[in-house]
Amino acid sequence: MSRVALVTGGSRGIGAAISKELKEAGYSVAATYAGNDEAAAAFTAETGIKTYKWNVADYDSSKAGIEQVEADLGPVEIVVANAGITRDAPFHKMTPQQWHEVIDTNLTGVFNTVHPVWTGMRERKFGRIVVISSINGQKGQFAQVNYAATKAGDLGIVKSLAQEGARANITANAICPGYIGTDMVMAVPEKVRESIIAQIPAGRLGEPEEIARAVKFLVADDAGFINGSTISANGAQFFV
Ligand code: NDP
Repeated sequence: MSRVALVTGGSRGIGAAISKELKEAGYSVAATYAGNDEAAAAFTAETGIKTYKWNVADYDSSKAGIEQVEADLGPVEIVVANAGITRDAPFHKMTPQQWHEVIDTNLTGVFNTVHPVWTGMRERKFGRIVVISSINGQKGQFAQVNYAATKAGDLGIVKSLAQEGARANITANAICPGYIGTDMVMAVPEKVRESIIAQIPAGRLGEPEEIARAVKFLVADDAGFINGSTISANGAQFFV
């Protein structure tokens, strides 16, 4: 039977490309989303991939949602923690609400997604976890103290999970995309976007599919020794 892959935020943008790539590779995919029912319905109609709605910032909802996925498809063996938001503001204008919304979704959301499947992965002696971090977690970004904190936090999460899971054949890795042409980036004013592209040596935004292919590589059965790593995919914008 094909392994079950859970992709949070898997109905749009980078997550949608990941969901499709994993389905094409033969995995049984569950894609989650937060509230955009229209986009999720269109995604399911296009791909045949089942979508599930819950807020990754809420532990009980995540746990219940994952139980439903497992009842429908079987034990979750692959987790791609991709759901993420921005609430940008220069630090002197950043509100506690903007801080907490981003921390709760992007950082606590990773805990809430991985923790409910962790014990099962340990018992079955197999697991693949990929967290979608960001170039801005590696280098920081103006007006993104909240976002950069969560994305840097992702790197600490995977390095620690990697050490705890390695004996049980569980891997945890991060991908740090540079700027990818999704709704999140297209929402940035055009002038700002042009200045962003000017800073990318590749001279273009990345494609969601370019991130999806890196995920497929990391979740493969034979990728078990790649653990605690960070893959940068940013058109040579920044090297670490
Ligand atoms: P999009 O805004 O295009 O899509 C976000 C997805 O996450 C949607 O499916 C959305 O659901 C879901 N989501 C948002 N909040 C929640 C929540 N609280 N609970 C459950 N699902 C949620 O984002 P991108 O594809 O651009 O980004 C995906 C990931 O990649 C993010 O973690 C982002 O930080 C990271 N990233 C993106 C980059 C880029 O250039 N685009 C660069 C570097 C990193 P719904 O449709 O219901 O809103």
